[in-house]
Amino acid sequence: MKNQTLCQLRDIVGPENISTSQAELACASYDGTAREYLPEVVLWPSTVEQISRIMVIAHQERIPVVARGAGSGMTGGALPIMGGLVLALAKFNRIIEIDQANQTATVEPGVVTGTLQAEVKRYGLFYPPDPASHKFCTIGGNVAEGAGGPSAVKYGVTRDYVKGLEVVLADGRIIHTGVQTDKGVVGYDLTRLFVGSEGTLGIITKIILRLIPQPKSKQTFLVVMDSMAVAAALVSQILCRFTPCTLEFMDRTAIGIVADQLPFEPTVGTEAILLMELDGTAISVATESTDLLDFLVGQPGVTLVRQASDATESEALWAARRAISPAAFSLRPHKMGEDVVVPRTKIPELVTCAEALAQELQLVIFCFGHAGDGNIHVNIMLDRSDPLQLRHAETAKQRLFKRVIELGGTLSGEHGVGITKSAYLSMELDSSTIETMRAIKQALDPTGVLNLGKIFVTAPGANHSK
Ligand SMILES: Cc1cc2nc3c(=O)[nH]c(=O)nc-3n(C[C@H](O)[C@H](O)[C@H](O)COP(=O)(O)OP(=O)(O)OC[C@H]3O[C@@H](n4cnc5c(N)ncnc54)[C@H](O)[C@@H]3O)c2cc1C
Repeated sequence: MKNQTLCQLRDIVGPENISTSQAELACASYDGTAREYLPEVVLWPSTVEQISRIMVIAHQERIPVVARGAGSGMTGGALPIMGGLVLALAKFNRIIEIDQANQTATVEPGVVTGTLQAEVKRYGLFYPPDPASHKFCTIGGNVAEGAGGPSAVKYGVTRDYVKGLEVVLADGRIIHTGVQTDKGVVGYDLTRLFVGSEGTLGIITKIILRLIPQPKSKQTFLVVMDSMAVAAALVSQILCRFTPCTLEFMDRTAIGIVADQLPFEPTVGTEAILLMELDGTAISVATESTDLLDFLVGQPGVTLVRQASDATESEALWAARRAISPAAFSLRPHKMGEDVVVPRTKIPELVTCAEALAQELQLVIFCFGHAGDGNIHVNIMLDRSDPLQLRHAETAKQRLFKRVIELGGTLSGEHGVGITKSAYLSMELDSSTIETMRAIKQALDPTGVLNLGKIFVTAPGANHSK
């Protein structure tokens, strides 16, 4: 980058909000994929006008720009694979307004998701999207990735709560999408276009979110089964009768990984666990809990049903569920984590496919995740320093994706495409659809400065299959 350009950028944000030091560049170089690409410069803007002026320069000089929230993305979205500049949004961390009467929150993108959830709770309100990373990921990153979490089965995902956005376009223009009201159909739905756009279409600088009343009561249940097919059938039957706010699943291998953290000893032959919650008013939850237990007890294949006796036991069950991912590294040092989705009735076929791949390719593969919406995390464990394992893991990923598409599913339910799935885009989308998406990118970012190389394979060597 030219010195003159660096000086212009310094003038915009001030000398304390720009850095080219190796330490700061390193801090902006990674994300949840554990890969690293150094940018040339990191900026910490604090106003939309600053971002607009930065983008004017980037657009004119064709400098690659990557927006960065907490850097917890799992597909490489925040990696500056083309160098250039990183816009770190840590200073955009204000909750501008919580409108209790109209049940909305207006926030800046750098607000941590868990912070917003805790804050709206003080007003008796609820922001349901709950990625497991909520303690550190940002609302901006959630919107850009279309993040979801366990509560999606009842409450939906980030997309369902975004009413409107302020966005700085690639050439520096500032636009406003959506409405504050509950209804609004004036013009195209640009809000939905930006949700899940992975920082490739604009920099989101303000977000209007929909809130709902905080549920008063919650109960947690554990169901242990001796058959995957039973587990999948049960998921469908439960969802026909009840509206759980979470319905999570662990396969045999996942159970084994966290067996010592479960508040019971899994017996030989345990094939699947469902972890589920009911929420609502105290009366509705009590009634539904009785009905649920009546329904579950005696179901063929169900070997144990347990209702958490209190919040501590409930937390212990969730702690075991959350421990699966980190504990998996005791099996192998590296992980390819795929967040594929299939129709929920097809979960057994997906798990069977994963088990067959593991056996044939001598890999450890396990499945867990959001059974209620069919979003299953398939984790391929490997040691990347072993070329054979790496090759086998890539084969497993390719064949898994093929099977997911055959089963009527999608390659990503919440993590996005980034660089780790871009090479597989055409497995799911036909060429006309990809061309339409590329045309949108071209219209909004004609010089290709915003997160180039993400979603679409653009630069040779930049998009990896792992
Ligand atoms: C332990 C762990 C658990 C996780 N669990 C879940 C889960 O349950 N569900 C789930 O969906 N994800 C999960 N994730 C993935 C990740 O947390 C989400 O994708 C999250 O939305 C990323 O937020 P972030 O602030 O870290 O964004 P970053 O990683 O910084 O950025 C992600 C993408 O968003 C873009 N971006 C960020 N801010 C903006 C902005 N203001 N304007 C435009 N583009 C922007 C970036 O350029 C990048 O493309 C998990 C990750 C980890 C490490």
